[in-house]
Amino acid sequence: MPNFAVQDYPTPEFVEVALPLPLRQTFTYRLPFGLRDSVKIGARLLVPFGKRQITGYAVALHVKLSEEIEIEEAAIKEAAELLDEEPLITAEILKLTQWTADYYASSWGEVLKAALPAGINAASEQIISITAKGRDEIIKFSSVNTIKTQVLRYLATNDEKSARELANSFGTTQSQRAVRELVKSGLVGTFQRTLTSQVKPKRRKAVRLLSPENHDKNSQPTTASQHKIIETLLHSNGEMLFTELIEKSDVGASSINTLAKRGVLEIFVREVLRDPLSDARLPKITDLTLTDEQTKVLAEIENALDQAKYKAFLLHGVTGSGKTELYIRAMKNALDKNKSSLMLVPEIALTPVFSRLLRAVFGDEVAILHSNLSTGERFDEWRRIRKGDARIVIGTRSAVFAPLQNIGLIIVDEEHDGSYRQHESPYYHGRDVAIVRANYAGAVAVLGSATPALESFHNSRIGKYEYVRLANRVGNRPLAQAEIVDMRDVFKAFGKDVSFSPALVQAIEETHARGEQSIILLNRRGFSQFVLCRSCGEAIRCNNCDITLTFHKREGKLVCHYCNHREKTPRSCPNCKSRYLFFVGEGTEQIEDVLKRKFSNLRIARVDRDTTSKRRELEKILEKFSDGEIDMLVGTQMLAKGHDFPNVTLVGVISVDAGLALPDFRSAERTFQLLTQVAGRAGRGSLQGRVLIQTYHPEHYALLHACAQDYDSFYAEEIGFRRKLSYPPFVALASILIKHSNYNYAFDNAQILKDCLNSANSEKMCRILGVAPAPLTRLKGEFRLQILVKARNRAKLRETLDFALHDAQEKFCDLKIVNVEIDPVNLL
Ligand code: ADP
Ligand code: ZN
Ligand code: ZN
Repeated sequence: MPNFAVQDYPTPEFVEVALPLPLRQTFTYRLPFGLRDSVKIGARLLVPFGKRQITGYAVALHVKLSEEIEIEEAAIKEAAELLDEEPLITAEILKLTQWTADYYASSWGEVLKAALPAGINAASEQIISITAKGRDEIIKFSSVNTIKTQVLRYLATNDEKSARELANSFGTTQSQRAVRELVKSGLVGTFQRTLTSQVKPKRRKAVRLLSPENHDKNSQPTTASQHKIIETLLHSNGEMLFTELIEKSDVGASSINTLAKRGVLEIFVREVLRDPLSDARLPKITDLTLTDEQTKVLAEIENALDQAKYKAFLLHGVTGSGKTELYIRAMKNALDKNKSSLMLVPEIALTPVFSRLLRAVFGDEVAILHSNLSTGERFDEWRRIRKGDARIVIGTRSAVFAPLQNIGLIIVDEEHDGSYRQHESPYYHGRDVAIVRANYAGAVAVLGSATPALESFHNSRIGKYEYVRLANRVGNRPLAQAEIVDMRDVFKAFGKDVSFSPALVQAIEETHARGEQSIILLNRRGFSQFVLCRSCGEAIRCNNCDITLTFHKREGKLVCHYCNHREKTPRSCPNCKSRYLFFVGEGTEQIEDVLKRKFSNLRIARVDRDTTSKRRELEKILEKFSDGEIDMLVGTQMLAKGHDFPNVTLVGVISVDAGLALPDFRSAERTFQLLTQVAGRAGRGSLQGRVLIQTYHPEHYALLHACAQDYDSFYAEEIGFRRKLSYPPFVALASILIKHSNYNYAFDNAQILKDCLNSANSEKMCRILGVAPAPLTRLKGEFRLQILVKARNRAKLRETLDFALHDAQEKFCDLKIVNVEIDPVNLL
């Protein structure tokens, strides 16, 4: 007789749930009997939280409540529903997200949410129904006609309605108030009902040929159109989507139905995968012979793949040195070893090019994950990865959490790029998480860049990363010549600010005359048109954010680029009522207009946030440019990245000065990277490229080293500055932002926190700076105060922060308004 009292695995009674809320803790729930045997770690659960029910993630199971859980057993709520029989989150991702949440002092549940495709979380809605008492008493109100009685009568005839439906019929505020009052007098009740997720697998009717023994032998001979159907089906292995079959065979649905009745074919429903590359034009792949440099680097990477142990490379390769080809070969090598590969790219601007190339090389093994996909596409791609059908993933930041199994290689292209950093909660750095993932998985990491982040280069110097270099361009194509145009001279000559120096104008004309293409780059940040008052000197600013409003010509409106506030351009100064307003600076739109007027014979297109927010718009423009249907691209720094246009021989940088002037210790590094990258865009083919940089600070070291394409000298100078002023990589940095609409409230809380930090720092291992106004002092109607914490090392930093935050909580500091950012990338 088996002994039922003793089990190998005692049944868990409690589950630990991470919730996608900005809370740095998990929550314990009791498991109802029905769920105790079926819930697994990594599954999603619907749990009550406050008045709502939300989706959380099971991160641990407890047989008994552990001592550490400071909660009365009776106060523990019960989990409502199990959403996945098979957990969505793998053990590897669970561990990785836990590390991420812990390291960046953010919420585990939020990191898990970011790791999963959007739109799969179940939600719940409030349902309102009439009570027995409500039915009994409805007669009392028969002569009363208020919203309250209308709602009650409505519920009496409909049994129950969701809060949303009531709001549609009676207005949101009014229906809410009515429900509140009705609940109070016990006439209606409310409960939560689970809604299924917004995304679902897509299903379509399909047609499949059956084998001849199913056919109805007594049927009439087939008609011409029926023949056509069978023929079409045979052409695609006997199976097709219904609509596709109609389209391709050019017959009516009735002929297909007839054949189905006769048993020649069957109609069924099948899942179709939404493929983000379904209508993309794939590039032709050519068999390249690797250069000596490429061969050497590939051998090192393959050697590391052979070892099947963690190893990280910093691949420092000048633009055009053939890094992409190396990535592809390394991924092939991993695949030969039955290992999957992950390739991270910084921005959507890069993915169309790369993902098409990868699809051309690896076919269906490639899945794409980036935010420009539709929710459905992302869902399907994610599931293909989870099932192991796609073993090569290319994606942006959050793809670092892609559920690849048996991962062997992680590539981070343009590793220096700021967009790997998530700028809102949960904060994390995609590159750094990638390194940790590789480390946990015993995989090889390759960080590639022409301009490595200072931290990464430093890491290679101290032996954390193996440094490999591609010093030459493929085919020894010359690097573009970069020249500085001193705008002070131009100003003297013209007696006013002009956007285009005569040198740049001439270069554009010459380039076009040779039948070649050009790119004009603006430093988006701080370089847009705004309105200034000549009388009082004030720029018109956003009331919410204290940020200069940008003039959008097409709309004729002033727009805040932080909170999206829009207003009509005023006729007079809001400050002093003077009518002498004038427009300063130019945005991409204005530059595009100026260029179109100056060079009416050129076909010019613009690429910036506005164009890229439209799905596939950017892709179309880049394709046209690549086909030579556009002569010139005007745009922001996204143009500087990764594209390969062999016919581009001129890059003009309109103004770099705004970027250099930003109150951020990385502004020189960013400018150097931008210029080096953009110089890499010129002269990718066999033609000699030219770069013209317009500036009012021609002697700045970032510009001089960028012009010389001399990373090592730039590094030497910049690292000295970082050391002297105690900036990363020599210190670990945390930025604490305290935000609230009430300045005093923000300040008081900041002060509590500052005091706690000071007492946590009794050993003086950290330097605590502030409380100070953040460089962006007001944003979206909130005041922003900043405290910076610098520490000799990360462990000390975390220790001090954890201690101080805990202390602050006890002292009633409102931590909801406190944002902690570890290793901040952007100090604005
Ligand atoms: P990077 O990413 O280093 O800037 P790319 O990978 O874009 O450089 O390579 C630049 C160009 O050189 C591409 O057009 C690529 O197809 C080509 N290329 C790369 N490797 C070779 C090779 N071994 N032989 C010939 N062409 C190559
Ligand atoms: Zn004024
Ligand atoms: Zn604003």
